[in-house]
Amino acid sequence: MATSHHHTDQSTQSTDQNLRRVRFMSDLQADRFGGQMIEPGHADYEVARRTVFATGAPAYVVRPDDVGDVRAAVRFARDAALPLSIRGGGHSFSGFGTNDGGLVIDLGGLDSVRILDLDRRLVRIGGGATWGTVAAALSEHNLAISSGDTRSVGVGGLTLAGGIGWKVRKYGLALDALVGAEVVLASGEVVHASAEDHSDLFWALRGGGGSFGVVTAFDFAAHTTTEVFHGKVTFPAREAETVLTGWSDYLRAAPDDLTSLVNLANPMTGGPQAPVEVHVTFDSDDADRAAEALEPIRRLGTVLDDDITLRPYADTLVDGAAPPPGLQFVLRSAFVDEESVPDVLRVLAESSTSNGAPVVGVRSLGGAVSRVPEGATAYPYRQAELLVVSVTAGPAPVVEAARPALDAMWSRLGPSVHGAYANFLSTAGEEALAAVYPAATHERLAQVKRCYDPANLFSRNHNVRPASPTDAHPHPGRDADSPYESAAEAWASSPSTNASTPGR
Ligand SMILES: Cc1cc2nc3c(=O)[nH]c(=O)nc-3n(C[C@H](O)[C@H](O)[C@H](O)COP(=O)(O)OP(=O)(O)OC[C@H]3O[C@@H](n4cnc5c(N)ncnc54)[C@H](O)[C@@H]3O)c2cc1C
Repeated sequence: MATSHHHTDQSTQSTDQNLRRVRFMSDLQADRFGGQMIEPGHADYEVARRTVFATGAPAYVVRPDDVGDVRAAVRFARDAALPLSIRGGGHSFSGFGTNDGGLVIDLGGLDSVRILDLDRRLVRIGGGATWGTVAAALSEHNLAISSGDTRSVGVGGLTLAGGIGWKVRKYGLALDALVGAEVVLASGEVVHASAEDHSDLFWALRGGGGSFGVVTAFDFAAHTTTEVFHGKVTFPAREAETVLTGWSDYLRAAPDDLTSLVNLANPMTGGPQAPVEVHVTFDSDDADRAAEALEPIRRLGTVLDDDITLRPYADTLVDGAAPPPGLQFVLRSAFVDEESVPDVLRVLAESSTSNGAPVVGVRSLGGAVSRVPEGATAYPYRQAELLVVSVTAGPAPVVEAARPALDAMWSRLGPSVHGAYANFLSTAGEEALAAVYPAATHERLAQVKRCYDPANLFSRNHNVRPASPTDAHPHPGRDADSPYESAAEAWASSPSTNASTPGR
């Protein structure tokens, strides 16, 4: 009896699944979706469900070919009340680019880089492009956009939350170079956002992350670039405190051409005994000026190694590693204002040379970042002088064992740091959200959200919820008999939307 009941359940389930599959295909095709559709069982599914740091079990992954396909996919997710993930380059440390039981829109096919106007250096970049593709395409025209340090990282995720790269002190964040965006809204409508059109949306896109719509194209004002001096100078671990202090004092008044970060406790070169690495980019090919600007860096301590050379800007970017599934990554970050710099550097120097030290990076900001008025974009921490990032990675037991040292370091830093950089965070709960957006920024974002995504369709991100619900029904457009509903409800009620998401 029990067995036959079980069979009935199974066959009902597979009939439901088949029904859903047929509806999925036909609904999307009816809306003229022309891209790739991937479900469990499809040859590409195993790859499509994984991002760099998370493995999900989405019901469907779609790979649009154009903006029309993105519209169809967004309308489909909304009408079917499916949880929705937008995937750009797939490098979110919070695992935003996949989910369980929902739809993933993988923008990887939208990776074109077009020069719109060479004289004005205007370029249009597809919403799923990666920075390696961009750097290579722009270098042919001696152009660049200050982005991040890794080729495989997406233009989408990095730009929408900031973008701190090798030219950040000279040209600002990646989002500071953005002049417009083509956006598919939750309504399915396509709008162009810029300082003139939908300026509230344009403000929110520059720092507010993926909460407001799918950006199918980014318009940037690129800058001209020459070759640049780039590399690192290393010093003994025992000199960490003097090197860090001298470095931050110098960077405070250094030319904007110089951008720099310091890495401590690199596990590949000795962990707590690892040399202090001072990485630099001097954004010019003028050897005399570079030598002059780099001289104070070379005098910070006992130089162990110095590999700074002149190279094309595109060659400063490195390939991203693809960690095997199952490894956990815990990333924490916070900003430091000038008056707290000495206290923070003392704690970092001490903890990075103790056993069990987390890997720590300290990025120097200031320069062009700090000259954009506070509130001009939704990136809130313009005046911070430094950004501290810690990375703890490994199999779960290793990460657990490292937690006490990590927590101890951050609790010592606590009184001297504030906020967090959304792109260097592996958590996404209320505490993370409050650190990413101070109250005033959050409030303004929530107003924009209410206008453009009142039902919070775009929620797999550091999610700003709409200011106040305009409609009690969470999904106004959905079909009451939707065959997709059960998947959505299962997802919504599951305790963890993605068991392998790190850092939760
Ligand atoms: C190896 C490595 C190096 C890094 N280096 C740097 C660095 O030097 N500087 C720095 O600032 N950051 C850096 N980062 C952090 C990086 O900015 C974030 O991980 C960012 O989220 C990656 O964007 P993505 O598009 O690849 O990620 P995804 O996981 O694809 O996207 C993350 C989220 O962004 C949103 N999103 C992405 N594209 C779109 C779009 N077109 N429209 C709407 N929403 C979108 C969605 O909410 C999406 O879920 C690095 C990360 C890694 C893993």
